[in-house]
Amino acid sequence: MPELPEVETVRRTLNELVAGKTIVRVTVSLPRIIRRPAEPEQFAAALAGHTITSVERRGKFLRLVLDGLVLVSHLRMEGRYGVYRQDELVETHTHVIFHFTDGTELRYKDVRQFGTMDLFAPEEDLLLPPLNKLGMEPLDDDFTEKALRERLSSRTTKIKPLLLDQAYVVGLGNIYVDEALFQAGIHPERTADTLKRAEWTRLYEAIRDTLGRAVAAGGSSIKSYVNGQGEMGMFQHALLAYGRGGEPCTSCGTVIEKFVVGGRGTHVCPRCQPRPSGASAKPAARQKRPEGVSPKIHS
Ligand SMILES: [Zn+2]
Repeated sequence: MPELPEVETVRRTLNELVAGKTIVRVTVSLPRIIRRPAEPEQFAAALAGHTITSVERRGKFLRLVLDGLVLVSHLRMEGRYGVYRQDELVETHTHVIFHFTDGTELRYKDVRQFGTMDLFAPEEDLLLPPLNKLGMEPLDDDFTEKALRERLSSRTTKIKPLLLDQAYVVGLGNIYVDEALFQAGIHPERTADTLKRAEWTRLYEAIRDTLGRAVAAGGSSIKSYVNGQGEMGMFQHALLAYGRGGEPCTSCGTVIEKFVVGGRGTHVCPRCQPRPSGASAKPAARQKRPEGVSPKIHS
């Protein structure tokens, strides 16, 4: 599943490619992608004649802002957008096509078919599900160390599931929570109320740094890809903890452990991220794998 840096990269690229374009008509070949309005014909009819003014983002939702409408799109597992000329072959698994007045098309392709599109009146999308329950944007200017600490520090929940909870901070998925906690030297099973002031500082800086570097990397690596076909894709980042179970810590050389916290595969350096006292010393489901076998990357 794409995480926030990937969605942000898609947003920036889409904004460059489609802002200013006017929709002539919309073709929907898989109706269940469209959730609102209920009928895909209504969806298509409502969009015809409207111009995309910008592409924005809230959490992992893309917001295509048009003159008088907002299209909220979630890519889920494998949703992808691409911009094509209308004479280019339509690939299989293309479910929605936005035909523009300039002869180009924005095509939505989704092999797993889990993606969604919802159409709203302007700003209405922010007041209704699914966007109205979302927490702080970690890349925004008003996401400060103080805001993070004040929002989370009274909670007695383990810090990892708390950071994954979209009601507090949006867009932090399993990969970047593991990376941020590793960088901050905080064990994922610490409860939020036990974190010291200096740890909140380190955690805040680690979240900003990890996400910022990933967005910057995506922004540069995506460029050549777009020049070819105009399709946006996923990319790998240099990960220090996530997916490195059984490998040495890049900081101290201790073997990175993998176990489950709150139902999610979790990667920890037992030396850099000391286990809280009182928690069980032995991880419940530590991953064992033979030497020389690369771990599979799941998000
Ligand atoms: Zn270490």
